Amino acid sequence: MEPKRVISVSQVNTYLGCPLKYRFQYIDKIPRPWRVASMAFGTSVHAAVEWFHKERLAGRTADMAEVLKVFDADWYAQNVEPLVFSERESKDSLAEKGRAMLQLYVESGNGTMPVAVEQPFELDLVDPETGELLDVRIRGIIDLVEADQTLVDLKTAGRTLEQGGLERHLQLSTYALAFLLQHGDIPKLRLDMLLKTAKPRLERHPTTRSVEDLGWTARLIREVSLAIETEHFFPNPSWRCTECEYFAHCQQWRGTWPDEQLVAISDGEGVGEIAGA
Ligand code: SF4
Repeated sequence: MEPKRVISVSQVNTYLGCPLKYRFQYIDKIPRPWRVASMAFGTSVHAAVEWFHKERLAGRTADMAEVLKVFDADWYAQNVEPLVFSERESKDSLAEKGRAMLQLYVESGNGTMPVAVEQPFELDLVDPETGELLDVRIRGIIDLVEADQTLVDLKTAGRTLEQGGLERHLQLSTYALAFLLQHGDIPKLRLDMLLKTAKPRLERHPTTRSVEDLGWTARLIREVSLAIETEHFFPNPSWRCTECEYFAHCQQWRGTWPDEQLVAISDGEGVGEIAGA
């Protein structure tokens, strides 16, 4: 018997954002010539928050200075690969912002104890509305599970959620779907957003999903997996192009760049030119 396809939540999100980018990243496995600094920054904040909760889980009180040390070390490591900063940001300004955001997070009353941090899951995908087995496995990692069975996703962002963003949040929907398939119950969900606004803000957005929502999510994941298997890879120009590491490869796909010009772009030159194409 053929092994089932396995797809991760981030693969689904990447495909939905731009199928051609998915191909460059996951099929062609083209090394990223550079990375958008805000993504790397989010990874560093995430690493420090994860460490903070793992300490709590182990029954220890994490010292603020130690949380910041984890952030500083991760941010240093992220800067080893070429990062592209926005005009308003630099390595040092983001380091300062990250520390302020973490201070806010740690001091914001994380009263509910975690029962799991970075909890992985992988399971057969089933449509919860019909019980149909959908011939694909789904995997992911839940950032945080709290004692009252609230599943939490943590994001860093420059601004608050757009209208409908919470309801459409695929990661939370997939967490809820996985939980429902494993435990027969729809969990509480929450999106925690650390905003790197001039004065950092922490927003907590509780939400939930219905069985119908999760049936839709399961079918969406199955369709994405089928589209990948049948090699439907096409560009989807949008605001995301401004931070796409595969800009040069995308231009080549359009036929506007000769092969010899397709060199590793390490300085971010040309980023954003394709947006709106
Ligand atoms: S530049 Fe835009 S359209 Fe091209 S691969 Fe990247 S995200 Fe897709």
